[in-house]
Amino acid sequence: MSEPNVRLEGVTKAFGELVAVRELDLDIDRGEFFTLLGPSGCGKTTTLRIVAGFEEPNEGRILIDGADVAGLPPHRRPTNTVFQSYALFPHLSVHDNVAYGLKRKRLDRGEVDRRVREELERVGLAAEANRRPNQLSGGQQQRVALARAVVNLPKVLLLDEPLGALDLKLRKGLQIELKRIQREVGITFVYVTHDQEEALTMSDRIAVMNQGVVEQIARPQEVYERPATTFVAGFIGVSNLMPGTVASVNGETATVRLDAGVEVRADNNGLSTGEECHAVVRPEKLTIRRADDGAADGPGVEGMVESSLYLGTATQIVVRLPGDVRMTVLVPNADEAERQRLPGGGVDVRLSWAPEHIHLVRGSTAAPFAEDAIEPLMTSRGGS
Ligand code: ATP
Repeated sequence: MSEPNVRLEGVTKAFGELVAVRELDLDIDRGEFFTLLGPSGCGKTTTLRIVAGFEEPNEGRILIDGADVAGLPPHRRPTNTVFQSYALFPHLSVHDNVAYGLKRKRLDRGEVDRRVREELERVGLAAEANRRPNQLSGGQQQRVALARAVVNLPKVLLLDEPLGALDLKLRKGLQIELKRIQREVGITFVYVTHDQEEALTMSDRIAVMNQGVVEQIARPQEVYERPATTFVAGFIGVSNLMPGTVASVNGETATVRLDAGVEVRADNNGLSTGEECHAVVRPEKLTIRRADDGAADGPGVEGMVESSLYLGTATQIVVRLPGDVRMTVLVPNADEAERQRLPGGGVDVRLSWAPEHIHLVRGSTAAPFAEDAIEPLMTSRGGS
């Protein structure tokens, strides 16, 4: 196997009493779009700054293409960083901002001009080459910052919430553009964000961090479909965690007694009999029907509708199970008559799922409820 582009070995960083990053091991492949994702304060920026050389770890090693970069200042490392604040030189033109690093390397003028033009074309700013940064929009300034970093062809490009200062629409457009640029230039991107949707759409792999520790490293689909911990399940998407205890394990399958009062089966995911766990079913994988409609279906739980919200493309129904557990169901608004028939507040319902859509995670720690996972387009009470 070829050596990783970036390797973190047992990296710990403390600020006084506070341990910002704890014993972190990480391998990032060449050309990968790798995202550090987590809530504010989880240690993702500190991790990035350690790779960049703005912070030195208390313990552990950083290897880039196999070489230990300990003690090297940022400008001597084969990395470049793009910050949320664009940090452009205000007195220099767009062209000269992008040319800055190449000029410092004393490349000849013809090559500098050629490479700067190429990068400005890549980010769609060839016509703005002679403007000053303050004559550009925020999105344009961030593209200049990106061109200025990419033109140096670093081995690793580090991006710290680069789209954080932009409005939602611009951010979405630039997400697609960033991904295209990364594919085109083939440089490894290490990207920091607290925005789970951004991480899911752009990344080859995601490291989900919580309190200085990586809880899971996996491809976006796996992080979403098979979260490793309750924290990951809660941070990515809507949590939908049903607490329970493993009643028995038979080979790969566990039978779990949910606190809601029913037994369900799922892949055991390394759990043993007697362990506390949570069963996760994503909102779009749940089927909802009235408890008294008598239809036979697969495994499920019963509860009462607490609220129903019209979101434009879908209806979001929150169902309360025994034990004060709330489950969110997302039903696509494909058919208006069907939407009208959805059970409204106070109705007893049954939630069910296909056996492959239930997933067990270890532990009983409470996870945050990702309120912003679904953004209502319009809100009104639905159902009867
Ligand atoms: P955010 O998204 O808010 O930037 P983050 O996940 O990037 O959060 P870090 O910036 O890495 O988190 O910070 C991790 C922890 O370390 C936080 O509790 C923060 O207050 C602390 N911290 C970071 N830098 C310093 C510093 N220079 N001195 C003291 N504490 C710091």
